[in-house]
Amino acid sequence: MSEFSLIEETVRETAKRFTERYWIEKDKAAQFPKEFLDEAARLGLTSLLVPAEYNGVNIKVGDYVGLVRLVSSLHGVAAGDLLMAYNTFGAHPLFTLGSNEQKRKFAERLITGEANPCVAVTEPAAGSDTLSVSTVAERSGDGYTIRGRKIWITMSHITRQMILVARTSSPQSGRRSEGLTLFLIDPHEHSGIRTSRIDDIALRALGSCEVFFEDVHVPREAVLGEEGKGWRALTGIFNLERLSTASISLGTAELLLNKAVEHAKTRVVFGRPIGANQAVQFPLAEGKVWLEAAWRLVRDGAEKMDRGEECAFEANGGALLAAKSSNMVADAAMQVFGGMAFAQDTGIELHWRNLRLFRVGPVPEELALSYVAHNILKLPRSF
Ligand SMILES: Cc1cc2nc3c(=O)[nH]c(=O)nc-3n(C[C@H](O)[C@H](O)[C@H](O)COP(=O)(O)OP(=O)(O)OC[C@H]3O[C@@H](n4cnc5c(N)ncnc54)[C@H](O)[C@@H]3O)c2cc1C
Repeated sequence: MSEFSLIEETVRETAKRFTERYWIEKDKAAQFPKEFLDEAARLGLTSLLVPAEYNGVNIKVGDYVGLVRLVSSLHGVAAGDLLMAYNTFGAHPLFTLGSNEQKRKFAERLITGEANPCVAVTEPAAGSDTLSVSTVAERSGDGYTIRGRKIWITMSHITRQMILVARTSSPQSGRRSEGLTLFLIDPHEHSGIRTSRIDDIALRALGSCEVFFEDVHVPREAVLGEEGKGWRALTGIFNLERLSTASISLGTAELLLNKAVEHAKTRVVFGRPIGANQAVQFPLAEGKVWLEAAWRLVRDGAEKMDRGEECAFEANGGALLAAKSSNMVADAAMQVFGGMAFAQDTGIELHWRNLRLFRVGPVPEELALSYVAHNILKLPRSF
């Protein structure tokens, strides 16, 4: 048996311990799934993209997205997102952009499950329009002073590894993509950072917050990659993030589809299973086709990334297709379960609610389409 199939088998085995009830309770209580994270770390799922010389599992991106999809198909969005945080936000930027010192400092925490990585991009006045971020990092003494405010930053209240996007200079040549810088920090090591949790309806088990930076001093060594060249680095992170969230949504939709199919076979109305009606069958059958089609695009994108090829079309198109098809399936599942879909204990509404996020974030559907319109079809830019 290959090392990869072994991981798959162990992941399936572990799923038996973290039941649907576990995830429903965590969501209701807005409580972090620490027990699951500990187990994920023990299985190596938090260090899938950490190189072997740093004691990581070191698998290809193509295999990684497959595991994210599998974990999500067994546990849902919160578990998939946790894997994404560790590998896409934690390991990938650290080992593609980080200095040796940064790698030494942060690698171990990914393996032990103490990092809870996050990426702080979105601001109250800069969501889809990332280049409008107004958090600033001014040179001062041996480093920078950071001032600004972020919003919706998942796990920022418990993170030990934050990538923060700030402006270090105004764009000189009118190109707004100039002058952005990424900082890699452990918020516990700096004063002036405050978080305030948002009472939200998606990813409740992980938690998302507003984050305030009030004259936060960070050393020069906190810069991740090159000063002023953060936009280019960020687009690489965004591509992997979009492939990852697409895999989470496709896995979770598969979970819902299986539940809906089972219910359609067993729920008897008018003396026969509801699944004997074509009106019930077709949305489920259509969902299956769309999920498979979306997965092929996502997998292509991940394999391109492994070969070092451009994959922004697959990342944006895959995120769009995955969000649309998984929401189509989630809606069909709500319909098939009828009134029972509205009982929190059936777990349908939890997945339906969480999946809705992917039509808005990390990239709204309209912005994914704009990417294709502007960059692939070369239509006039709309912004
Ligand atoms: C639960 C949750 C977790 C999140 N986690 C993180 C995180 O960890 N880190 C982080 O940085 N961010 C995070 N986000 C933020 C998320 O990435 C943003 O919400 C998303 O990028 C959209 O930005 P916005 O909310 O500012 O929407 P806006 O930019 O205000 O856009 C609102 C809507 O307007 C429409 N729109 C905007 N511009 C256009 C256009 N040009 N053409 C057509 N339509 C347009 C779209 O429908 C869009 O959905 C999270 C959000 C949520 C809800």
